[in-house]
Amino acid sequence: MFGSQAQVQLGLRKSLGTRRTVPSVPPLFFSRAIWGSLGCGIIVRVVMELRVVSLASSSVYGNAYLVGWGSTNVLVDCGVPIRRLEKSLQEANVDPHALAGVFVSHEHGDHIRSMQLKTPFPAKYNVPVYSSGLFWAAQPSISSMPDNLCATLEHGSSVQAGSLQVAAFRKSHDAVAPLGFRLTAPDGTSVAVVTDLGEFTPEVLSGSRDCDYLIFESNHDRAMELNSGRPWSLIKRVMGKYGHLSNDEAGEALAALVTERTKGIMLAHLSLDCNSPSQALRTITPWLRRIQYQGALTVASASAATFLTDSVADH
Ligand SMILES: [Zn+2]
Ligand SMILES: [Zn+2]
Repeated sequence: MFGSQAQVQLGLRKSLGTRRTVPSVPPLFFSRAIWGSLGCGIIVRVVMELRVVSLASSSVYGNAYLVGWGSTNVLVDCGVPIRRLEKSLQEANVDPHALAGVFVSHEHGDHIRSMQLKTPFPAKYNVPVYSSGLFWAAQPSISSMPDNLCATLEHGSSVQAGSLQVAAFRKSHDAVAPLGFRLTAPDGTSVAVVTDLGEFTPEVLSGSRDCDYLIFESNHDRAMELNSGRPWSLIKRVMGKYGHLSNDEAGEALAALVTERTKGIMLAHLSLDCNSPSQALRTITPWLRRIQYQGALTVASASAATFLTDSVADH
């Protein structure tokens, strides 16, 4: 039993650190060894590392995920109130002006809240935003976004944002053209970010299989949802194929997505009412044990920053 602890380690890898607020650390995270010179004949060894941090992950507090490599940083979704987003980025030592892009999965408020303003977050900091053409065509709530920052990225295609390649794939959710993203660093290290998923489809499988890291939705416990006392229409929506994945569905999906390459999984977008970190871990761990997954498994905090990569960086 995992009690209230929100992390578990499968296999032989070392334990994860505890969840914490983002500290003031240098913005560069390193995963690949390269050699550089400081001049004066002094040679230094710099190790490049993909950086993956959830800044917030829930329908109540919003969703924003930070992925970085060297001096490149991008956001997947910006559904956190703008002041909170600015504070989270400041604590991560990331200058919002220097973001290489914001990749928006779909138009629900918990994924675009900081864009639904007279001066949207991306406009304030001159950051391009990528989403599907249908997303841009159907969004009156973000009409104040300047045209020059609205970039189109369709499912099945990819774009280079700084040193990160970002590929989009289609997913099933009750939005106009919802997208999942796979971000790949120059050394091939990759992370997929997939939340708000009604069912696990072949496109999600091919889009997010065999990644080094996964941020993956584990929204609700089926029994808790069914007994929640919520209106039946809402329960049907959440559990339907355009809603959200249950813990069991997430476990089954992860068992298909994980390969020997996978080092870390973060369960995301947990329902505050119909799930808990311990319940999600209890349900998903057996699925991952069955495929002898050896990596780390953690749960994104609903409202605070949670690191995926720092605790597994030195394997
Ligand atoms: Zn959502
Ligand atoms: Zn949604």
